[in-house]
Amino acid sequence: MKDLDILFIGAVMNYDGSTGSLANYIRKKGKWMAPFQYIYDQHRELFTSEADACVYDIPNLSICELVDYLKRHGELEFHIIWHFDYHKEEILEIFRTRPPKIIAVSSTLAFFPEYLKSCIHWLNTHKPAETRVAVGGKWLYANFSQFGPSNKFEKTLTEVDADYYVINRYGQETLRLLLAAHKTGDTAAIRDLPNLAYRRSLDLGQPTTATHAGADYIINPVITEAHEQGKYLVDFHNIGERFLGDIVHVRTASSCPFHCRFCTFPALAGEYVAFGLDLVIAQLKQLKSLGVKKLFFIDDTFNVPLKRFEELLDRMIAENLELEWVSFFRAQYSTAEVVKKMRDAGCRMVFCGIESGNDEILKAMNKRVTVADFERGFDFLHRAGITIAASYFIGYPGETHQTAMDTLRLLNDPRIAFSRGSVFYYDPNAPVGAMAEEYGLSGNGAEWRHNTMSSREAAQIHLEIVDKIQNVNVQISDGAGWSVFHLYSKGLSIERLQTLYTEFNTIQKEQIQGAGRTALSQYRVFGKKRKEEA
Ligand code: SF4
Repeated sequence: MKDLDILFIGAVMNYDGSTGSLANYIRKKGKWMAPFQYIYDQHRELFTSEADACVYDIPNLSICELVDYLKRHGELEFHIIWHFDYHKEEILEIFRTRPPKIIAVSSTLAFFPEYLKSCIHWLNTHKPAETRVAVGGKWLYANFSQFGPSNKFEKTLTEVDADYYVINRYGQETLRLLLAAHKTGDTAAIRDLPNLAYRRSLDLGQPTTATHAGADYIINPVITEAHEQGKYLVDFHNIGERFLGDIVHVRTASSCPFHCRFCTFPALAGEYVAFGLDLVIAQLKQLKSLGVKKLFFIDDTFNVPLKRFEELLDRMIAENLELEWVSFFRAQYSTAEVVKKMRDAGCRMVFCGIESGNDEILKAMNKRVTVADFERGFDFLHRAGITIAASYFIGYPGETHQTAMDTLRLLNDPRIAFSRGSVFYYDPNAPVGAMAEEYGLSGNGAEWRHNTMSSREAAQIHLEIVDKIQNVNVQISDGAGWSVFHLYSKGLSIERLQTLYTEFNTIQKEQIQGAGRTALSQYRVFGKKRKEEA
């Protein structure tokens, strides 16, 4: 077999049990355990391995898009590792037998920077000397969007310690040019490549266009990369059946037309483009022919606009695709008839980002929805037999203990089967950043304070909600509700999953109560102890 041009690495989650907190894990057998690991332990007969039970060890769309793009532009010897943690032996074997020119690591599914750093450290320790490590993806681009070509951003690059960073919303063309330079040996072509930062010690010569030339890294200009959003969709033949299982991610639009004030996604993802339905249906038929049986529709606003959504459902039903799927769901854009069609078209579960159960907070967030809209949507879904998973977070500016308890009340709606919570994450680049003065909002990321709450108080309330919630609490550590659908696709019924998650929650609640104040000190965000507790 030929040496590899490129080895892709997807999720990086540190599921070795060494890190975690009682907000998302339990302690068992001296290790931190995520819910899917607990469920795997109870039902080993359904899985080929622990990795098989993990929702991140499946094809993720951003890597599929990269592979598809590179293959459309030429020959490509590639391999994909969907989940770093579970396939280190396989990576070592690849290093021995098919050393890649480049290892491309996505930061999009590296949930905590600490995990990304330890992954790159491991790769740097074990990779062949000539192989270069490149990092791209959403986390990196978000970081650059916040700090620009600065010493602060360079510090992040130095900490992660990769050879290259592809800094772009898309990055496909930059990666193609980087790989082409390595294939031809023309490494001088890399020196002024836009959207690239590279290790100074690679000694590529004097840069002429760099926007930042630091001690460790050169950062070239970041420009808008031409991208043909929606002109074609991923040809999954280019990925190949050996990398596809029976469950994949797909999307029918890019970005998001909403402007929730806490969210940076629309700004990072660029223009909202709804793909043509002929392309979407052709792709779904292709996936079916490749043996795919279950889909994660990852569109953030799948059922918006409603008319297009209904047309898609009609066509899926007419094609008799027999694909089961899960998607996000905006309750304010639904009717009983459309929700019934969702069920007929294969929908088994939806994620409702309720965020809050208080109308004032929802209005402040610019969610363009009310509690009454949620309740009406829940009714349609419940009557259609579609499982509801709701997500929320605590601590948006204006939040008080009382408004958080309104959220708990909504979450305890018996029609909600699963819920998943977190604490407000303050990104000053989100629209709320422009209102910081009005809200007395200071801090950054997981550490913040505003006129009505601090991040520490929000963490305490989140633990209180985890303790009091009546429905089944699912964990961020576990890919939240995504894991439920994944485990369902492996043969566990929704009812059995509710039982197993409830068992997990009971252990978790006992451990939170047993830990007392220590539980808060273990409330780790981004892999670190909270500063005020450290
Ligand atoms: S929270 Fe969801 S719906 Fe709102 S802007 Fe972000 S991606 Fe769009």
